[in-house]
Amino acid sequence: MHPRDLSDHVEYQAGRGIEEVARELGRDPSEFVKLASNENMFGPSPLGAEAVRETATDVHHYPTADHADLVARIADEWDVTDDQVWLANGGDGALDYLARATLEPGDDVLVPDPGFSYYGMTARFHHGGVSTYPVERDDGFSLTADAVLDAYDGERVVFLTSPHNPSGGRFTLDAVEEIAEETDEETLVVVDEAYGEFTDAPTAIDLVRTRDGVAGSNPAASRAKRDDVVVLRTFSKAYGLAGLRLGYAVVPEAWADAYRRVNTPFAANLVACRAGLAALEDDEHVERTVETAAWAREYMTEHIDARVFESHGNFVLVEVGDAAAVADALKRRGVIVRDCTSFGLDDCIRITCGTKEETETVVAELNEVLAE
Ligand SMILES: *Cc1c(COP(=O)(O)O)cnc(C)c1O
Repeated sequence: MHPRDLSDHVEYQAGRGIEEVARELGRDPSEFVKLASNENMFGPSPLGAEAVRETATDVHHYPTADHADLVARIADEWDVTDDQVWLANGGDGALDYLARATLEPGDDVLVPDPGFSYYGMTARFHHGGVSTYPVERDDGFSLTADAVLDAYDGERVVFLTSPHNPSGGRFTLDAVEEIAEETDEETLVVVDEAYGEFTDAPTAIDLVRTRDGVAGSNPAASRAKRDDVVVLRTFSKAYGLAGLRLGYAVVPEAWADAYRRVNTPFAANLVACRAGLAALEDDEHVERTVETAAWAREYMTEHIDARVFESHGNFVLVEVGDAAAVADALKRRGVIVRDCTSFGLDDCIRITCGTKEETETVVAELNEVLAE
């Protein structure tokens, strides 16, 4: 027996963990700072962590009520109906549900290059093909409707990452709307806002929201409600719950009920649901995270002796020459960053925004490595 032909499939390359690196170098994990996976510099939301501890004695139950409670809370947050919230095992899980709901065998998806690899991975799992549109370094990795539409050739799903990983750039809402408008009626535009909390740009949920639900003062009310835009969000980044795997898609009301036909039962686990509910009440943690990320972006942009691309996420992309060599040298100095070779950028590293101290450390170490 063999698995199906997986020769077209690629493995997901995660940022490397502290334990893994420490073991490899024969050193103590406490000697390392990890700024490689865009995790939260302050750890989990404290309210979320408390909910995790308190839920331990309840985990013999299926998360029926908690799943519904979290969906209702998120729906309330965005002013959409409960059906429009597709809760999942991480944002990645929501991408799987969208693939299940949209792709017939042989359908293609259009993804950014460089970009987040899971879009293509899940398309292939679901017997789809992958084509790309360029995000050009010459333009400072700017994200435009033209670049997407020039490459567009009737694909079933178009992925927009805003803020973009790994560059940090973002699409304007007008660009998203233009892309949705100019692509076929049966093309879905997925706006991945995994880093949405870190930017002051309006969310593309403004394009999906039911107009009835929009307050009169909301400028988004003047925009048409769309049935071809989905927005992806996650608790992994600003909320610091990456290890719990909790994310969701906000989908158009017109086909929101497809969830019941495609989701894995109890998509999000009980602990994740309770922690997510608590984290949504933890404004202080999110605000502190977002403010510190903004500070760190500015500090890195100003003080790193290399080209730093403008970022709206909790990370920056830096042009360093030989990315593998620089990442390796930093690792030996105790700082783990992301070598972007797997994104096709073998001269760039991506550095996650750390605490003040971590950020100052990585900048000092990087500048020394660059000077060598
Ligand atoms: C982190 C990330 C996600 C979602 O991650 P999950 O941990 O699965 O929620 C989605 N898209 C991009 C671009 C990301 O960087």
